[in-house]
Amino acid sequence: MSEIILRDICKSYENGFQAVKNFNLEIEKGELVVFVGPSGCGKSTTLRMIAGLEDISDGELWIGDKLVNYLEPKERDLAMVFQSYALYPQMNIYDNIAFSLQVRKVPKKEIDKRVHHVAELLGLENLLKQRPKNLSGGQRQRVAIGNAIIREPKVLLMDEPLSNLDAKLRTQMRVELAGIHKALGNTIIYVTHDQTEAMTLGDRIVVMNQGVVQQADTPQNLYAYPVNRFVAGFIGSPSMNFIKGLVIEKVGIPTFCTENDGDIPIPDFLWKILKRQGYVGRNIELGIRPEHFLEEPAGADTRGEWKMEVTVTARELLGAEVILHFNHNGQDCCAKVSGDSLIDKGDKVTLWIDMAYISAFDLETQENITLRKGMFS
Ligand code: ATP
Repeated sequence: MSEIILRDICKSYENGFQAVKNFNLEIEKGELVVFVGPSGCGKSTTLRMIAGLEDISDGELWIGDKLVNYLEPKERDLAMVFQSYALYPQMNIYDNIAFSLQVRKVPKKEIDKRVHHVAELLGLENLLKQRPKNLSGGQRQRVAIGNAIIREPKVLLMDEPLSNLDAKLRTQMRVELAGIHKALGNTIIYVTHDQTEAMTLGDRIVVMNQGVVQQADTPQNLYAYPVNRFVAGFIGSPSMNFIKGLVIEKVGIPTFCTENDGDIPIPDFLWKILKRQGYVGRNIELGIRPEHFLEEPAGADTRGEWKMEVTVTARELLGAEVILHFNHNGQDCCAKVSGDSLIDKGDKVTLWIDMAYISAFDLETQENITLRKGMFS
């Protein structure tokens, strides 16, 4: 049975603004689900509705076998960790972690056992006698997490818990959080606007835009099979490149005509899809991930070949990889090539595209045309 079910959940604020529209999701026990999307897409509002901090305008929210729409937050068996975490400055770390059990009058021996267990899990054992002011940002955030998990809530809700930390600490905490989740096995719903955080943490990711769930899927599927242009562009860093053009058959050859690059042969597999779905004679947009630009042709197989002459406007060395920036039909594009690449800023080079991984999008509906039907059923 699912641990949490959101059924057609909607949120309209008093001013009439619809922040969340028909949100449907079933979350399994022990899953770590990440809500991700740009600022204002409704992810915090959804989390707050689950927590009971925000009224649900319409729909049903189930936790376990209970309909909880009208239950108070404390009756929902949830704990929440926020971006800004308030620790009690006058109390030591032990008491900060123990606080929620102390107010519930849990026996001291039991509290002691649980505090030490949580402290061990979070690497805070040597800090239990310290005051919060003596701790680093990451350590303080761990205390806040300890305070939330010590009650052993069914579900842990986390709203951008790492966003106050610097980049290095965020990465470290991300790995630690994944470990904590594995050790505890509890259900976690985690909100972030950072797609890297979502991809590395989530068992499943819910991508939202303008109050609407775009796709709920595993990180791998989101990356390889985005259902629409929004998800394709949002997931992946650097973003997918998009190129507009017309699909036609030119002297018997399936062709994609773009403004500047002229005619590009369409590989067999793509032509079949486009033809079957009635895209011949229509404009579409092709999506190319930066790593699918190659310095050499992909090989003599059925993939088809497409090359572009580009002028590199910037080169960013990331270590093992180099990001090459170039302009295409007035649009910034980038390619991710090996760190050994000698291509430099200002160079005029040929980049090949591995057509096996290409995606195509409908210009009106923005849907991914290249998805095989039934892929997600
Ligand atoms: P962020 O990452 O910036 O926190 P978010 O995806 O979590 O964004 P929400 O905080 O859920 O977004 O807000 C969703 C939308 O609802 C936003 O457009 C926001 O301006 C609007 N909103 C939030 N609270 C209210 C309110 N009390 N009254 C009216 N509109 C609100």
